[in-house]
This record gives sequence, C-alpha cells and structure tokens, in this order.
Amino acid sequence: MNGPAAPSLATFVYKADPVRGQQWAEVFRKHAPDIEFRIWPDIGAPANVRFLAAWEPPDRIGERFPQLEVLFSSGVGVDQFDLQALPAHLPVVRMVEPGIVQGMVEYVTRAVLDLHRDMPQYRRQQQQGVWRPLPVRPANQRRVGVLGLGSLGQAVLRQLQGLGFACAGWSRSRHTLAGVDCFAGPGGLSQCLAHLDILVCLLPLTDATRGLLNADLFRQLPRGASLVHTGRGPQLATDDLLAALDSGQLAEAVLDVTDPEPLPGAHALWRHPKVQLTPHIASMTQAHSAALATIDNVRRFQAGQPMTGRVDRSRGY
Ligand code: NDP
Repeated sequence: MNGPAAPSLATFVYKADPVRGQQWAEVFRKHAPDIEFRIWPDIGAPANVRFLAAWEPPDRIGERFPQLEVLFSSGVGVDQFDLQALPAHLPVVRMVEPGIVQGMVEYVTRAVLDLHRDMPQYRRQQQQGVWRPLPVRPANQRRVGVLGLGSLGQAVLRQLQGLGFACAGWSRSRHTLAGVDCFAGPGGLSQCLAHLDILVCLLPLTDATRGLLNADLFRQLPRGASLVHTGRGPQLATDDLLAALDSGQLAEAVLDVTDPEPLPGAHALWRHPKVQLTPHIASMTQAHSAALATIDNVRRFQAGQPMTGRVDRSRGY
C-alpha cells in the first residue's frame, strides 16, 4: 500500500543576472538545503514555486505561480515593478543587505569629499596648467543634506558625521538621528535645503519623488550648492539641472543615475564641464550577502515574523 505522498519541496526561483544566480544557488545549497533553488527559466513545477526573486518579474505572476508566497526584488528599489499588476495579497520585499549599503556609503562619501575639497575645480585647473590654491574649509563648516533617511541615507549620514560634516536629512515621516538636523514632509523640505552646500538624493522613485529635483528645488538651495544624485534618474529634471549649472545656481553635479539609462552618447550631460557621470554603479547587491539576507527573510516569513524591507504598496516603497 502506498503511503501519503512526500510533501514537495518549496521552490525558490531566481530571475535576474544568471551569473549571480549561480552564487545565490551555492549559498542556498549550504544554508537552506530544504528549499529547492532554481534559476529562471528552469523553474520546475510552477505549483511548487513559493518564493520568487526578480529584477523584473514575469507577467501574469499570480496565474503562473498560484502558490507564490513572497516576491523579492533582487535590487534595493521596487520602482521597476508594476505594483498594481501584482496580486494584492502578495508580500513584496526589497533588498536590504550589508553589501549594497557599504557600496553606497563609499560612493557618496567619495563624491562629497571630492566636492568638499574642490577637486572638480582642481581637475579643470590641471587641464589648463593653472597652479591656484583655493581656501580650505573645514568639514564642520560644510553642510551636507541627504534626502531619504532609509537604510542607505542613514548609513551615509553616519559616515559623513564621522568625517565631521554638518549633517541634515529629510524624509516623509519624522526621524530623530543624533547629530543630524532632521526635517520631514513637503513642509520641511525648504527648511532642509536652505543652508546646504551639498545635497545628496537617496530617495526611492515614487509618484511623489518623480521630478522632485527641479528648478524650484534648486532655487531653494544657497547659490553655488552642489548635487550628488544616487536615487533614480526620473527624479531629476535634467534641463533644469543644466540651466542651474549654467547660471551658477548650482556649482557641480555628481550623477550616478540618469533618465534614460543608458544615457545616449549625444546627451548634453556627458560633456557638461560641471557634471560627473557614472553608469548607475554607486552600489550593487553583493550576491553572497544578498542571498543570506533573503534566506533570513524566508525564515522570518516561515516563522510568521516581519520581513526586513517589506514594501508598503500604498506608499510605493
Ligand atoms: P528606504 O525605503 O529604506 O528609505 C527611503 C527613504 O526615503 C525613507 O527615509 C523615506 O521616508 C524617504 N522617502 C520616501 N518617499 C519620500 C517622500 N515623498 N518625501 C520624503 N521622503 C521620502 O530606501 P533605501 O535607503 O534602502 O534606498 C533608497 C533609494 O536609493 C532606492 O529606492 C533607490 O532609488 C536608490 N538606490 C540607488 C542605487 C544606485 O546604485 N544608484 C543602489 C541602491 C539604491 P520614511 O523614512 O518616512 O519612510
């Protein structure tokens, strides 16, 4: 007589960069052998798929994977997801892992120090063979403000504080961070901007933040302030930025994200002397720590505990 059928393994499907997928597979083999890890498109039986990690999820996800329990973003943001098209009950979790935080701290700190110590100007002077020292301002007289006080914004501020900068931050809800002047909500933005020398954008892309970095915002900064933009390209009104740089309202811009990406070769941003561009590399998920963080979240889910990075779909981040 046949006994009851053995329960099928829960399947975790990974649908992003396949090379990193192999690294995830190793971590799952070692740390979560009870979960069947598969790399898209080799998904096995769709009915066994309980967890999906994707940069771009497949369409009709609810029909394809009727038992899907959690959708993980393989990146920090979820703006590449069409949240409305996902089944309403499905928890969506973004990536929070130490590797990506460290990368962002490095990128923004380098950019802020570069601006603080007038390196863009010295690079221009070098091209012209000009030996001209500029006054050195101590960090505690340089005010740096970070838009977005999430996992990345707070880590960046801790590092900048450690270097002695005068720090401010802005978020949707009110935060209290030791040594940081915190502002919140639309009403707090102009107060945050009013005294900044360097503005860092680390906001998620939502309806409320799309186009936020525009002429109106630049006008609220002191003349000659600089921008470090590591959020998302569509948050920046590029023509407004170019005009602000040309008029001197803004001194310099360090951009890691653009709209569109990749930025077309003929785009004015590439050649503007006051713009430093990088191709969206400020920070990337590190496969090993990302897989470990995801396993931790799977365990939390299985134990009925809150998952780290759970997206509030009504807020869009
Ligand atoms: P979090 O979700 O942890 O934090 C987001 C922060 O932004 C929160 O403080 C939130 O406020 C604030 N915020 C959101 N909407 C608004 C709003 N309308 N007005 C004011 N504040 C707002 O995100 P992370 O820190 O982990 O990541 C931030 C962003 O960084 C990502 O969404 C992505 O766009 C970008 N990023 C860029 C990378 C790159 O390589 N360039 C790599 C990784 C991320 P509250 O605290 O009140 O909720």
